[in-house]
Amino acid sequence: MFVLRLNKSGMPQAWITPEEATKYYAQERVLFELGETTKIMRGGHNSQGVQSTIELSSIIACEGKVTNLDGKISLSNRYLFRRDNFLCLYCGQKFKPSLLTRDHIIPRSRGGKDRWANCATACTRCNCHKADRTPEEANMSLIAVPFVPNLYERFYLMNRRILADQMAFLGNHFSKNQRWRIDEP
Ligand SMILES: [Zn+2]
Repeated sequence: MFVLRLNKSGMPQAWITPEEATKYYAQERVLFELGETTKIMRGGHNSQGVQSTIELSSIIACEGKVTNLDGKISLSNRYLFRRDNFLCLYCGQKFKPSLLTRDHIIPRSRGGKDRWANCATACTRCNCHKADRTPEEANMSLIAVPFVPNLYERFYLMNRRILADQMAFLGNHFSKNQRWRIDEP
């Protein structure tokens, strides 16, 4: 599991390991917790021989430099397929990632950009059929509007093992475009 680290304004900054989270607690840099206690880490022993414990929350806001992550989470096939729920946006069927491709809605040869809004998950068959044409030219329509994931949606895409309370937190900030089931990440 990963702990979601936020900045002091409550914006996601990183998924961090329990060990990294423990350091923030030990350095007293955790400002507030939003998640539930998710893991108990054992610390050092005091002079009486009692071992300290640190209770990690699944979401912690920490002091530190605020980084603007917009645009830093790049478009990869892994994230793109996840954005589209592993559905081909043309035929609407679900496929294994190995059978999916990145379709440029406006083909790159026609000036289409390699950006979130111009990319759709497509099965090999639909992508071959569409070839170097626009959806209109190929008479193929998209079953959903390809969208640019916002910061919270990108954090969702980055982590496949999101805890329920982390999903609830991120889900509160999802745009209307997203089609992911909040109760079932
Ligand atoms: Zn298809």
